[in-house]
Amino acid sequence: MIDRLLGSDGRSVKAVDGVSFAIEEGETLGLVGESGCGKSTTGETLLALQDPTGGDVRFDGESVFDRDDVAAFRRRAQVVFQDPFSSLDPRQTAGAIVTEPLVIHGLPDTDPDVRTEAAVTTEGIDSDRVEVRVDGDVDRVVDPVDGVATVHVTVRRRGGTVSASVAEDLTARVVRGGGDGGRSGDGAAGSAGDGPVVVEVTLDRSLSEIRRDRAKELLERVGLSADQVDRYPHEFSGGQRQRIGIARALALEPDFLVLDEPVSALDVSVQAQILNLLDDLQAELGLTYLFIAHDLSVVRHISDRVAVMYLGEIVERGPVDAIFEDPQHPYTQALLDSVPRADTSEQGRRVDALAGDVPSPRDPPAGCRFHTRCPHAREACRAEAPDDYEAGAPGQRAACFRVLDDHPYWQSEPIDAAAERAERDRSVGDDAGDAAANDD
Ligand code: SF4
Repeated sequence: MIDRLLGSDGRSVKAVDGVSFAIEEGETLGLVGESGCGKSTTGETLLALQDPTGGDVRFDGESVFDRDDVAAFRRRAQVVFQDPFSSLDPRQTAGAIVTEPLVIHGLPDTDPDVRTEAAVTTEGIDSDRVEVRVDGDVDRVVDPVDGVATVHVTVRRRGGTVSASVAEDLTARVVRGGGDGGRSGDGAAGSAGDGPVVVEVTLDRSLSEIRRDRAKELLERVGLSADQVDRYPHEFSGGQRQRIGIARALALEPDFLVLDEPVSALDVSVQAQILNLLDDLQAELGLTYLFIAHDLSVVRHISDRVAVMYLGEIVERGPVDAIFEDPQHPYTQALLDSVPRADTSEQGRRVDALAGDVPSPRDPPAGCRFHTRCPHAREACRAEAPDDYEAGAPGQRAACFRVLDDHPYWQSEPIDAAAERAERDRSVGDDAGDAAANDD
């Protein structure tokens, strides 16, 4: 709309174009690239937070855009945002922030199709005499397996008293205690005679109490204290706030997390703690991660495979060691060269920084999008866009003609990338001037 008002070129921006990759269950794919290259848009599109103009995202073999029940998908795929300062509501307590996904999704829910059963252990009393009645709502706190929520109840007879306890976070009451007439129990015990013993297992907490307890569990799981449940975000440090963000993402027990630069706003020492926490959670909960970052050392620490993005496209992908030890694409090589090294033998190392800025995604260069900055660019790179070719280690692929021995690239002439950049900068300036003139 602004373009139309200013009379300038109203071409749309393709923030992400032709991107295709798979993430295996339980692995971490690192997605790296400079700011503005389309990493976050890719992550948001995977979560169906952005509508793509074309293409598809499949989760467990099913398109996320064609699902009838998008809420069910959202329960399985969550996000941790970059900025722990702006991504938490300052007016909500940590407990309210962590339980909000549960409130939105109406969880924990009770499913009428789930049966409730008791696995009964008896001590000092004949099991034939014991009957356990389980409330149908206990599946709010007991995970059903194959449609059955099983509670584990122990019924003991000591002296003249029968008592009952339950392993899960529930209440067991002996409501009828024996052949002497018994009595209705208001606690966990009833008198023992020779008649039947009836035990009732119920869920005594309200939904908001269950959610609050879950928030405490999650806060402890991410390294905070349950006592901090009533504190507000401004009472936490940056690392602690990011832990709250992770707890919120875990509230729905997802399978897949998009981690959108989760440590880039944190101090280096805190970054390591958060990365270790993410590692532990993945091992414990079997999570799958898309880890978005611009810091290569962070990506190397946590990823199994890496995909490198430039101007909305993936230019190289492969196993993490292959990408770091033997990068095939000139852009990946430049990114790795720019990483500072602590080794004294590297003291005199010259870093040939990439020339120029990332071109506007509104008007990406023809052919290979990287050719205006690539030190190896030739005429063939301007004429044709490279595909994604096998190169280097097994599983490694790069979108560059140089990895092909027999491509016409090798016979074509080098181009003057600096002159081309200057020409593009001039045309951008002219466009801006035209727009300003129209504005006048
Ligand atoms: S295709 Fe050409 S411009 Fe593109 S990365 Fe390879 S050498 Fe550089």
